[in-house]
Amino acid sequence: MRAVRAGQWVGMLPDKDGPGEGGGVQDKTWSEDPSVTLFREYLKVKTVHPQPDYDAALRFLERMAEELSLPLKKVEVCPGRVVAIMTWVGTRPELKSVVLNSHTDVVPVYEEHWKYDPFGAIKDAEGNIYGRGTQDMKCVTIQYIEAVRRLKVAGKRFPRTVHLTFVPDEEVGGQQGMETFVKHPEFQKLNIGFALDEGLANPTDAFTVFYGEKNPWWITVSCPGSPGHGSRFVENTAAEKVRRVINSFLEFREKEKKRLNTNECFTLGDVTTVNMTMLKGGVAYNVVPAEMDVSFDLRIPPTVDLQGFEEQIKAWCKEAGEGVTYKFAQKHMDQNLTSTEESDPWWNAFGSTCKAMNMTLKKEIFPAATDSRFMRELGLPAIGFSPMNRTPILLHDHNEYLNECVFLQGIQVYERLVPALASIGTIPLD
Ligand SMILES: [Zn+2]
Repeated sequence: MRAVRAGQWVGMLPDKDGPGEGGGVQDKTWSEDPSVTLFREYLKVKTVHPQPDYDAALRFLERMAEELSLPLKKVEVCPGRVVAIMTWVGTRPELKSVVLNSHTDVVPVYEEHWKYDPFGAIKDAEGNIYGRGTQDMKCVTIQYIEAVRRLKVAGKRFPRTVHLTFVPDEEVGGQQGMETFVKHPEFQKLNIGFALDEGLANPTDAFTVFYGEKNPWWITVSCPGSPGHGSRFVENTAAEKVRRVINSFLEFREKEKKRLNTNECFTLGDVTTVNMTMLKGGVAYNVVPAEMDVSFDLRIPPTVDLQGFEEQIKAWCKEAGEGVTYKFAQKHMDQNLTSTEESDPWWNAFGSTCKAMNMTLKKEIFPAATDSRFMRELGLPAIGFSPMNRTPILLHDHNEYLNECVFLQGIQVYERLVPALASIGTIPLD
């Protein structure tokens, strides 16, 4: 992949307002774009698990709201877990609103593997800003804020209300974040028509957009068997059954892997991933155990017949032998996809705005899980989109970084997207 240099425009917008102006190395803080400085400041707020400093994040967001002259509502969804909502009321607040969602937390780091302090927001001579959250997803938070700031400074106002929601705990499953928030009366009050949430970087010129997510199924299969002495040919053992179970799951895994590798159009979002993640059983070398358990992590595309797939699992267990049972630790059944049809007004506004900026979009199913799923489960359209092209996917990885040009370009993308989304239709869309 091509490295992006500071001062180099990343090639999709007319470069008259681009950060390339002036050119040269931009690692001098005094000449830095104020939006980059703000981004670097937010990266230093340690919202890292297991003990994220959410108070510091809230203080930062309160200051942002003050600067933008927008109200900030705080909803404590669980003890110590606050969702902050910044609201830019539209001229027709009765219309369905647009939500710009981002999570405030980040995943832990292995500091010894980092080139720079992961919470130092160090920018190198290439303009690459290093830090946990540069891609996932503090970049997007600041891009939303800066786009709104610029639109407000330009004196703009739109028919639809725009809410910027900042949620905790996405990185630990969202149970004390978005999952609880969507059931809260304050969520209902937002009167949401459409939401934008996080996506992933794309190493090519294209931008990836996500319109659905895979369903995680965590399953443990228990195989009981006849116990006995390790010196005999014991019949009907747990081990024989567990071997058959493993074979069934892993043969299916190979088939899916092959399907992914032989179809050029397929991405990870189009196939079911299977991984055997735990194996338990046995007490001693000479004792044939009475039970063995095996666990799998499956991620299933929303397009798969989920009931049918569970029947398949049931059949594998039956074939494996007598008494083999399964239990789910996690089983998502969400098959909601956000429309990406031209006829859908939200998608149309999103897609045509991107097209007008010469952006190439790649539509995909998200390979893992984000907070969008909680909104889609309610039937709300949500698009996962982090405007990072020409950028390697480094979320949760060591040395996560984002180039400042890509970051600044993203603000301009939202400067166009927000007006488009907040202006569509003159009648409430439901
Ligand atoms: Zn994220």
